[in-house]
Amino acid sequence: MSGATIHKGGAGERLMQVKTKIIATVGPACAKPEKLEELVKAGVDVFRLNFAHGSHEWLTQIVGYIREISSRLGRPLGILGDLSGPKIRLNELPSGMLECFAGMKVEFVRKADPLQPMHLTCTYAALIDDLQEGDLILLADGAVSMRVVSKPLAADRVVCEVIQPGIIRNRQGINLPGAILSTPSLTPKDREDLVWALDHQIDFIGLSFVRRAEDIEELQQAIADLKPSHVPQIVAKIEKMEAVNDLERIIVATDMVMVARGDLGVEVDIARVPGLQKRIIRMCNQHRIPVITATQMLDSMQKNSRPTRAEASDVANAVLDGSDAIMLSGESAAGDYPVEAVSMMNRLAHEAERLRVHQTPPDISLAQVRTRALEVTEAVTHGAGIVAEMLGANLIVVATRSGKTALSVSNQRLQVPILGLTPYPHVATKMALFWGVTPLIANLTESTPQQILDFVVQWGLTDGVLRSGSKVVLIAASNWSAAGHDQLLVHAIP
Ligand code: PGA
Ligand code: MN
Repeated sequence: MSGATIHKGGAGERLMQVKTKIIATVGPACAKPEKLEELVKAGVDVFRLNFAHGSHEWLTQIVGYIREISSRLGRPLGILGDLSGPKIRLNELPSGMLECFAGMKVEFVRKADPLQPMHLTCTYAALIDDLQEGDLILLADGAVSMRVVSKPLAADRVVCEVIQPGIIRNRQGINLPGAILSTPSLTPKDREDLVWALDHQIDFIGLSFVRRAEDIEELQQAIADLKPSHVPQIVAKIEKMEAVNDLERIIVATDMVMVARGDLGVEVDIARVPGLQKRIIRMCNQHRIPVITATQMLDSMQKNSRPTRAEASDVANAVLDGSDAIMLSGESAAGDYPVEAVSMMNRLAHEAERLRVHQTPPDISLAQVRTRALEVTEAVTHGAGIVAEMLGANLIVVATRSGKTALSVSNQRLQVPILGLTPYPHVATKMALFWGVTPLIANLTESTPQQILDFVVQWGLTDGVLRSGSKVVLIAASNWSAAGHDQLLVHAIP
């Protein structure tokens, strides 16, 4: 039935459902425990906390709610903490807003006290040093543009001329496509937020406005210096042309990527965004790291209970392009229909996945994924995938201590559902983002592969996922047992 709600209740139920993971940004529209729970039941796998908004106190409360829901429902939920990075914002304007007319002159000044109506200041102290004559400045999400026409010798200000007119407001983001900024990739605020994130064992750390691979290394170093109990996964947000130019090195350096179309669509010609999305996703698929497609996927659902046709197509296409996860921002954080937006995304992803299964010939990027193994684990999981598909297996079970083997199976983009078994809650929440993987916590560290299989069969029969005649393929990762090698078992339930 086309209008049916797809439930993602218990682990077993989800296995047969949607493989693409859903990330929802938390904000005032869903900050109550009951609302968060509704979102989980509608299909959220990972919640995003945006450090640009909300105090640490508020974020701590949200994390508490999410973890309580997770343990009560027996549903591992990931948390992504999104660092603002060197995002530049306007400071307060004298009257809260300023209407900019074409040809009007406005000035960015270092400090304005008292503020002149045409004087602008921003959160980035070195803006005036970094800007050069001819540089383009975009405001109001790209709706307003101005160009630097002169920089007086005293270099205490830059004079700009408005090109594209419109209204600018307090605290709006400023984009400087093309300008080379001297700012470090981690601001002092990012470092404070990182300490909080590690203290709260956040699973994924997003880094905004990544410019080059070294930005990722800087974050890795900052994390290592803080000696966390669990090292989070780094999500490199691709939203600047410089990052597009250094894409492959960034992908090699990072754990995961986000196609951050919001800022990307301002920093780069918006006509290039669809193509860049496909290129970024394909390269991540080839390098076997998870990739998230983000921003404005169901934007009109902030105000309407149903999306536009174009948005429905956008979600489907992001799935078909090969996204591991798709993300909601304002739709879940500040919109009027957060639960409906998640349900809709879930349904759209589900339908798109059915198309993908029937896609012939196979997608090139996936063919490439399968051509060569980087490590023994990948060869073994590839083999397991072939076995499972040939047998028409009902389930692939991966017993993993780090999640690495589960990711390797996820990368194969199999039709067969994957159960990621781990004794560690922080590995289960990480696996919540892996395409096609349903995480399950089970303390089977001392068990042999046969005992793990027995456990899964019991669990599957109880949960209704398996029945007599079902076939299960088990991969026990090399780090699972003292034996130290990957083991593959095939079992048909009598
Ligand atoms: P943001 O990042 O929502 O933190 O700006 C996503 C994007 O720019 O698309
Ligand atoms: Mn952004």
